[in-house]
Amino acid sequence: MHHFRGITGRITFQLVAIVTITIMITAAIGYTKLYEVTETNASIRIDRAARAAVSIFTLKLPTEYEAIYDQAGDPLAVRLKGDTADSSLIFRDDYDLLLKSIGATNQGAANLFKLNMDTNAFDRFSTTFRKPDGTMPPPMSIQSGHPAYDNIINNRPHLGEVPVMGRMRLAYLTPVQFPNGQVAGALAVDVGWVDDLIAARDELRSTIIFYSILILLLVAAFGIIRMSKELLPLRSLAKFATDLAQGNTEQEVPFKSRKDEVGILAQSINHVAELQNKLAYLAYTDELTSLGNRSNYLGLLDRAIEESHTTDNGWILMHVDIDGFKQINDMHGQIFGDVILKKVSETIISVIGKNADVSRLASDEFTILIEENLSEKQTTALSHKLVDVFSKPIMINTIEIFLTISLGTTFLKYHAETADEAHRNTNLALRKAKDNGGDQFVYYASDMNDTLQGQMRLERYLQSAIADREIEIHFQPQINPMTNTLTGLEALARWNHATEGPISPTQFIPIAEASGLIVDLGTLVIDLACEQAAAWRKEGFDFKHIAVNVSPIQLWQGNFINVVKDMIEKHGILGSDICVEITEGIFVDHTEIRVTNILNALRELGVMLSLDDFGMGYSSLGYLNRLPFDQLKIDRSFVSGIDKDHRKQHVLQGVISLGKGLHLNVVVEGTETLEEVDTVRDIGCDSIQGFYYAKPTTAKQIPHIVEKIEGSALAFSPNDLRKVLKK
Ligand code: C2E
Ligand code: CA
Ligand code: CA
Repeated sequence: MHHFRGITGRITFQLVAIVTITIMITAAIGYTKLYEVTETNASIRIDRAARAAVSIFTLKLPTEYEAIYDQAGDPLAVRLKGDTADSSLIFRDDYDLLLKSIGATNQGAANLFKLNMDTNAFDRFSTTFRKPDGTMPPPMSIQSGHPAYDNIINNRPHLGEVPVMGRMRLAYLTPVQFPNGQVAGALAVDVGWVDDLIAARDELRSTIIFYSILILLLVAAFGIIRMSKELLPLRSLAKFATDLAQGNTEQEVPFKSRKDEVGILAQSINHVAELQNKLAYLAYTDELTSLGNRSNYLGLLDRAIEESHTTDNGWILMHVDIDGFKQINDMHGQIFGDVILKKVSETIISVIGKNADVSRLASDEFTILIEENLSEKQTTALSHKLVDVFSKPIMINTIEIFLTISLGTTFLKYHAETADEAHRNTNLALRKAKDNGGDQFVYYASDMNDTLQGQMRLERYLQSAIADREIEIHFQPQINPMTNTLTGLEALARWNHATEGPISPTQFIPIAEASGLIVDLGTLVIDLACEQAAAWRKEGFDFKHIAVNVSPIQLWQGNFINVVKDMIEKHGILGSDICVEITEGIFVDHTEIRVTNILNALRELGVMLSLDDFGMGYSSLGYLNRLPFDQLKIDRSFVSGIDKDHRKQHVLQGVISLGKGLHLNVVVEGTETLEEVDTVRDIGCDSIQGFYYAKPTTAKQIPHIVEKIEGSALAFSPNDLRKVLKK
């Protein structure tokens, strides 16, 4: 039925309409012409018939009747002659004969009527309508209401259609008059031939209607059949385009070689199909290595999981990562790094062969999906081969690059239900290989997931802890060892979970960083620190400044500066009440200009800047000179056991004089014993932050503790102080 909708239906409808109008116009013209002709013919004929009737009548009965004509010669009446007339006007044989010859002459019927003076009706008394046996038909009268009655009762001839034997016929009725001219009856003639003419005309009308309908049906059928046939290619092209949109690009576009509109459309669709193929290629290909990209990997992984669980095909998923690629990149630059990535991808392909699908997800993360049902032994051999192939250095422009890779492997049939799980588990195995020192492969094992589950649970807990502001901060004093006076306080995040108990920041901070929660956590810590600063200012406790730890991820949030600014304003404190501690991690992946910009922006708020954990990272000393730090915090690893280690003392001496040389305030972290404090103080630094003086504690206790430390300053040596503090 769809043919009647759309183009086919519309055009067929229009065709039918046009043909209908054409037929109607021609038929109407023809019919009108014929109508006119029959009309004229009929009146001429009836006129002649009337004249003939009157002539025959009066010539055959010359003694009884005379004819009266008008000027044009049309009969006006047949009049009875005075003396000879038999005015009885009743049935006579000669009347009948007369009517018969009139009828024969006119090829029609003839009737004689007599006016009945009692009823004023004209009663028939003679007729050509005899029954086959010669008897008279039933009596008939022309009465008031008959089309001819008015004319003849008023003594006028009548020409027009009258009912004759149940049909309308064209008739001419001539009054029959008494000798005195009064109406006595009527002589009526009609012409059968005229009837035929009209019948023919009517038949023509039916014929026209019949053939019109036939032609219309033919046109409609033709239209529908032809149009649907012509439009059929459009329908299949439309279907093709729909398939194309659904990503089915395998087939060839049909009708491309046609030269008509269909061909043009097909060629256009072909262009789209080609473009789609190109886009699909780009969408699934890694530009740098021409391996598959993440989308390719994810699509294939879905299939691999499906097949691993529904067929005998057990797929194997490997994650590959270059050990220490970041350093290589940093050392040689990104362009060089790209060349290495290409080389590595080629090397992987050369080992794995064509049976596997290798993709690159990001940076140096490669994935390998192997469709073959490899045994564990075969997989192990292959993994060995992959790891070992990198024992030879890679040559790039005469530079020898030594690199190793780590590999995590999962048998999808046994160790992954979903694509997500496959990816996660394989990545866990890779992490394990990395944690073990790299240059090796590790199979996924279910206990790896337990660790992850624990971390994920902690992540969930942490999220609500941050939202419910269950994170607190404790403070650890920084003390000038020469004067035993407070120089500042470091705020340290504390989390006491309702069921898990206290959780160390060394545990939850990395989780917060990995999950992005660090941004909200960091904001909360800044908020709490500023709040405390305001409270202490109000109380009149001089805390010098509060140092907050800011993780690089948090720092690189676009709105970090605003967060700090808002918090300072919100609590009505000074920028200089706050110190931001940053680790060398901010230099990873960021240019010196960006680092300088953000540090300067912080500085403009009056905030003090401290470089935390100095000496832990791989940082170059160059930037220390150029970046706007105020303070250097020397890591605990430099001081633990320093009193017994001369080498350490020399190193610390060097580091401190470097800091001093750069006019930086130097804080030494993590002094636990009196001996360490003494040694550090003798080497000379601005402040010491360590358990010896105080462990991190609640804000409430801080003024008391600080008072104790400072109060003992003059009275006691640090050694004595320990005794005081222990009491
Ligand atoms: P950090 O910034 O180096 O903080 C100093 C850490 O050394 C604190 O550990 C402190 O309790 C500890 N410490 C101080 N004196 C001594 C000592 O004499 N001996 C020993 N063994 N340790 C000492 P904590 O509080 O467990 O924090 C660990 C790390 O967690 C911090 O190291 C910091 O990197 C991170 N952290 C803590 N709070 C926050 C925070 O609010 N934001 C961020 N981003 N990191 C935080
Ligand atoms: Ca710190
Ligand atoms: Ca530190």
